[in-house]
Amino acid sequence: MDIIIKNGRIIDGTGNPWFKADLAIEGGKIIDIGVLDSLKGEKVVNAKGLVICPGFIDIHSHADSTNLVHPQQESTIRQGITTIIGGNCGYGLAPINHDKKDLILKYLTNIIRFSDDFKIDWSSFGEYLAKIEKVGMASNMILLLGHGTMRISAMGFDDREPTDEELAIMKNYTTEAMEVGALGLSTGLFYPPGIFAKTEEIIELCKIVSEYNGYYFSHIRSYGPKLMKSIRETIKIGRKAYLPVQVSHISIFGKPFWGTADAVLSLIERARDKGLEINCDMHPYDSVMTGLEMLLPPWVFEGGIIKTLERLKDPETREKIKYDQLHGCEGWDEWFPIEVIGWENILPVMLHSEKYKPHKGRNFKEISEIFKMDLFDTVYDLMIEEEGEASMIITHLRGEEDIINFMKSNLTAFETDGSSVAPYGELAEVNPHPRFYGTYPKILGEFVREKQVLTLETAIRKSTSLPAQMVGLLDRGLLKPGSWADIVIFDPKTVIDKATYANPHQYPIGINYVIVNGKIVLENGERVDILPGKVLRHEK
Ligand SMILES: [Zn+2]
Ligand SMILES: [Zn+2]
Repeated sequence: MDIIIKNGRIIDGTGNPWFKADLAIEGGKIIDIGVLDSLKGEKVVNAKGLVICPGFIDIHSHADSTNLVHPQQESTIRQGITTIIGGNCGYGLAPINHDKKDLILKYLTNIIRFSDDFKIDWSSFGEYLAKIEKVGMASNMILLLGHGTMRISAMGFDDREPTDEELAIMKNYTTEAMEVGALGLSTGLFYPPGIFAKTEEIIELCKIVSEYNGYYFSHIRSYGPKLMKSIRETIKIGRKAYLPVQVSHISIFGKPFWGTADAVLSLIERARDKGLEINCDMHPYDSVMTGLEMLLPPWVFEGGIIKTLERLKDPETREKIKYDQLHGCEGWDEWFPIEVIGWENILPVMLHSEKYKPHKGRNFKEISEIFKMDLFDTVYDLMIEEEGEASMIITHLRGEEDIINFMKSNLTAFETDGSSVAPYGELAEVNPHPRFYGTYPKILGEFVREKQVLTLETAIRKSTSLPAQMVGLLDRGLLKPGSWADIVIFDPKTVIDKATYANPHQYPIGINYVIVNGKIVLENGERVDILPGKVLRHEK
């Protein structure tokens, strides 16, 4: 045997109670579970006092975007993730129409900002998969085709419906991606250019995904004022295109709407009763990280970032933007009166300019006081100075009662909605959301051990076999003979997240071992310098 893990408690991912057994690994797979005294292992891991469970399957990740510059995936591996589902929220690194490359790169800055010497030497989805396979990866990856990237490649950043010709181009891109193993299609219907797409456009593309037995994942148009309407749109797409749908990072934004998780869940359950396979995923933080787009009306973003910056620089247009921010406007489903969010709860992040970088970690109220500026103008000036590349964290946007209600539902799997970053190298420069490092340890430490919202077995099921089942991944997510050996060994008495808003680059504690495809990548809390992850291709 390559590895034998002894003396631990096994939680197999089904939700069943733990049991004591040894586990043997050979050739990347789990060979045996039981009393294995007679077996000899090249390596023996003593898991006394620890839990052995399947590696976490992060069903909503953006770690694919950072993989080309950081294949070690430090913040991902350190929290026990062994498989990521990437390409979410409409963001993808393929297909790239090189005539639209600059628009695409600006669009992607919400999740990754490449250095100037970074080369994009691929075009199609297939070429991109070949590229990441060549670079390698620490955890396994399954990729969705991002609608936003594809739409820009087909028709730029225009606020209009596609022509027949442009729709045909998008359909070709979709066919091509599904042929080479994309899991399905993701949309970001809140972000431009996804927000410019009508429901019909998505249905047409999903019909192709459906022919390949693929999936539709959506960052829906609104998690606040128009949440129910947005979920109904997802249901409609699933029904019309005959495919399973995923409501990404289910949330209720904004205090006036808190307390409605039961109504949201029953809407989803009714759709399931009628035969639609619809699921959700979530992370456990009351804050979100998103583009500054959420603060501004969608028309400001039409045509791409260069035009956006021109609008922000024009005094008359600024007045109009401000007016719409105060009163809302047509086509802006996620509009909130700003006092619902609260300026003091909005922290600009991913700052690069000399002017604003020193104010990393401060909120807009503090920044406007420092520069003695009107609050709205502070946002516009910062966006101009950062060349449209800043993001933001909004704290206290979700209520704890809703988070707990969603957590307890059978329909929600856990996810990070994070990219991979590290406390070293170029990615140490960004200030990420703490969830990039701490999601699973926070669930296990805070919501299982401290608050006792879930049992350990249920929390692990929602991090392993449940997300695996949601994407048809039946040889991972469970500890059983024949499964791939993706395994985490952690200490249930100490496991907890350490990352904070002020100091996000901190590894969690209590995650001792991580094994990917039978290879140890984290040993006694220390990284091993190998990249055993694989691209997992969806098959029809
Ligand atoms: Zn999203
Ligand atoms: Zn996302």
